[in-house]
Amino acid sequence: MGQLMQAGHISMTDGENAYGYEILQDAFGEDSLVVAVESPRTLYQQGNQFIAIMLTVIAACCTVTLLVVLNLLNRIVVKPVRKLAGEVDGINMDTVAGTLNENNNSRELDGLARSMNGMLVRIQEDRDIIQENSEMFYYNANFDSLTGLRNRFSTARQIDEIIRKAKEARSHVSVFYMDLDRFKVINDTIGPTMGDQFIRAVAERMREHLGDTALLGRMGGDEFIMVQENLKEEIDRQYFVNRITDMFKTAFVVKERELHITASIGAANYPEDGQDAEMLLSNAEIAMYSAKEQGDGLYVSYRKELHSAIQRKIFIENRIREVIHDGCKEFRAFFQPKVHTQTKEIQSCEALIRWMAPDGIIAPMEFIPQAEECGLIVPLTWWMIRESCRQCAAFEKHGIINKVAINISAQVLAHGEFIEVLKQAVRDAGLTMNRVDIEITESTLLDDIERVNEVLSELHLMGVEISIDDFGTGYSSLSYLNKLEVDRIKIDRSFVMEIDAVDEKSAEDNREIVKAILAMAKTMNMVVTAEGVETEAQAAFLQENNCDELQGFLYSRPLPAEEYIAYVLSWKEAHKAMDN
Ligand code: C2E
Ligand code: CA
Ligand code: CA
Repeated sequence: MGQLMQAGHISMTDGENAYGYEILQDAFGEDSLVVAVESPRTLYQQGNQFIAIMLTVIAACCTVTLLVVLNLLNRIVVKPVRKLAGEVDGINMDTVAGTLNENNNSRELDGLARSMNGMLVRIQEDRDIIQENSEMFYYNANFDSLTGLRNRFSTARQIDEIIRKAKEARSHVSVFYMDLDRFKVINDTIGPTMGDQFIRAVAERMREHLGDTALLGRMGGDEFIMVQENLKEEIDRQYFVNRITDMFKTAFVVKERELHITASIGAANYPEDGQDAEMLLSNAEIAMYSAKEQGDGLYVSYRKELHSAIQRKIFIENRIREVIHDGCKEFRAFFQPKVHTQTKEIQSCEALIRWMAPDGIIAPMEFIPQAEECGLIVPLTWWMIRESCRQCAAFEKHGIINKVAINISAQVLAHGEFIEVLKQAVRDAGLTMNRVDIEITESTLLDDIERVNEVLSELHLMGVEISIDDFGTGYSSLSYLNKLEVDRIKIDRSFVMEIDAVDEKSAEDNREIVKAILAMAKTMNMVVTAEGVETEAQAAFLQENNCDELQGFLYSRPLPAEEYIAYVLSWKEAHKAMDN
């Protein structure tokens, strides 16, 4: 093998090629072979060339792949999507899904078409839901959910629309405002669920009788609207009202129970009584209130003169609602003593509500009937019961152990929560039940005799005494009262004040009536209180005829709690001195 003696390289001037050489020597040291070898630079250059070629090849491959991919994408995605988009645009959605399937056979397209179909089905479903929701929204915004009649808002809008047409046609529009009589009492007696069913039954009957001919609406509660065109004369309107009142001649059957009711109706007419729905509704309501004032089941047509009195009523109703909402801060309980005729002791008092409105006191005679009519008597009485008990307990701190008598209206007595509220108030005040009496009017006993008697028995068992207020003004006889759980009667003020009337004939007649009441009450072991005692002559007559208790201005007006305490203490003081 030759030995490597020398190695190097020769650069060519063109710089492109360079050749290396190696000189090998044989065993005798002679140069035997010169081998031309490619130099590292050549190799380097050759490497570059190789890389360049490789890169070119790779680039070419990539370009080809890209083209293939793009082509594929175009075929698989872009075209179908464009096609679908084209089909979605304005084409009947129901048929797109089918069309897509038919026209495209590739698997990818099938998949894509399926997911698009799913999407379209969901869009359709959403569209249905939106449609349903907007229909529901429209319904709720315009119709009353209980009766299906138009609600207040939609009734007013329809009336405006009817007026607009009537203006062009120069015709008449009559708006009838109907309110059920004593519905609140019925509602409290039968409970709110049955009350709702009752309202629904009334609406149903309205639809049966007038459905196609009149616009019907419900203003809320037990208030309904009927709108009729072309009732030009009052006689025409009266005829229409007769059709309404006829609806109430047959009893309503709610859960197999027969219920009778009447309705008060007021009417206002376009163009005489108002130019738009708001005015007509308001004036028809005023006419309705006026009808109600005159009794049940009546109809009144609007006149300007009705305005002031009724507006006051509406004002009072709204204010009572506000006062109750604000925690009854404007109400006060006043107390009027009842004096024992023989012993002259004050053993009990009557609690009477007072309304201290910012612009002066409003009398109970003005707002109690109003509160009864609109049902606000219930929360008002709850307050009065609690306040009377609280004050009665406060009297004890001054050594005054009085009973307190609370006035209870018929619908409060019939209210399912009455007994519980009373018990709770007595408990909260730290009193016992025998410290509370209730006063109810005769008419209360006539309402739902079975229910009333149930409540009276329960009150009796609890130790609460029951007085019949304003006795003599109603229709019940004493023997009838005897069958009920009643302990006392209060002879009405109208009889008492006549005892010493100037007209001697009338006075004599009255004295006979009072004597008869007292005599009969005694045979039935009833305690008798005379109310409205104003003169010594009246007191003397009542004492002679064994009336047990006297109440009236002769002794004291109803007083605020602090003044009542002072009055009783000074009364006790005076009678102690007299006894000694
Ligand atoms: P009522 O229950 O018959 O109460 C007696 C009324 O006669 C009271 O009128 C009282 O102030 C008045 N009075 C008492 N003694 C005399 C007198 O010697 N002469 C005259 N002229 N009047 C006398 P008030 O307080 O104005 O109450 C009127 C009616 O309002 C009450 O008549 C009662 O029916 C009702 N009322 C008052 N407070 C309440 C209450 O808290 N709840 C209910 N449901 N009704 C009440
Ligand atoms: Ca009373
Ligand atoms: Ca009375």
